[in-house]
Amino acid sequence: MMIVMKEGATSDEIAHVVERIEEVGCSAHISEGDLLTVIGAIGDRDRVASLGLEGAPGVDHLVPILKPYKLASAQFRKGERTVIDTGGAKIGGEHFSLIAGPCTVEGREQTLEIARVVAESGAGMLRGGAYKPRTSPYSFQGLGTEGLRLLLEAKAQTGLPIVTELMDVRDVADVVEVADVIQIGARNMQNYTLLTEVGRTGIPVLLKRGLAATLDELLMASEYVLKEGNTNVMLCERGIRTFETSYRFTLDLMAVPVLRELTHLPIVVDPSHAAGRRDWVEPLSLAAAAAGADGIIVEVHNEPEQAICDGPQALPTETFADYADRVFRAAEVAGKQVARV
Ligand code: PEP
Ligand code: MN
Repeated sequence: MMIVMKEGATSDEIAHVVERIEEVGCSAHISEGDLLTVIGAIGDRDRVASLGLEGAPGVDHLVPILKPYKLASAQFRKGERTVIDTGGAKIGGEHFSLIAGPCTVEGREQTLEIARVVAESGAGMLRGGAYKPRTSPYSFQGLGTEGLRLLLEAKAQTGLPIVTELMDVRDVADVVEVADVIQIGARNMQNYTLLTEVGRTGIPVLLKRGLAATLDELLMASEYVLKEGNTNVMLCERGIRTFETSYRFTLDLMAVPVLRELTHLPIVVDPSHAAGRRDWVEPLSLAAAAAGADGIIVEVHNEPEQAICDGPQALPTETFADYADRVFRAAEVAGKQVARV
């Protein structure tokens, strides 16, 4: 339930509504706009309805929310979009940002070289995994804390904020030292204890859509992070499983306009993991940017043939600047401002 306060409602009136909501074991999230304050009542809807808040002082009207997610709903921010500022590159609303880097941090030279090229090409953030969710337990699992250290060095050299994956709550203390954005991988989208934990860090989160997750399930997963008071969540479409076997995953670009309607959260598209092959990455990127995505996260490598992980889909550093230019132009066609650091 959303409680829309009257213009000029006093802080006592707002506090009174919050108190009543909390009395019945629900929690209240206050969202203050220029003119109006809206209070989201989170918890059992019947209990909130039984409070009769329509008649409380300062209350204008109540809006029942039918969607199971509340904090993520477009309604919650009254049409305003969330803009995430990671310390240089804004993403969301009018702002478009390109997130680029290797699938995984393999070594110093590789990481620093890729970081330099993507920074010079106008990327707004550097991606790179130190902890990797691999389908096979026999595949390279990431450099761990050594990988995190290399990402810090890349950040110091380029100024790019870091997007890196957290797979396990036991690594949260190490990852928060380095991450400007914590990536939650597709396979962990419904790891609710992990989502709660990243919610508590307060660090922006890039939440990837699960391989077989609906948009409602993605939004419910984001709700776990938002519920902890962490409002900086971006949602990432990275391809889903369908009956099609000609390519790795089906990139669901419908998710871009549909999510835009359902939520205020920034929407990012990952064409690399859907395509699985580098020559399909650019057309998908252009389509995603033109469809209004707030950001694109893409894999880049200085020696794709030698890459330990996801080499076939990595864009080579040599041509990355041209690729980035074309993507920025597509984003501009969709009315975005491009955030270059
Ligand atoms: C990745 O970003 O390298 C990755 C493993 O992504 P996903 O979780 O979408 O498969
Ligand atoms: Mn990858």
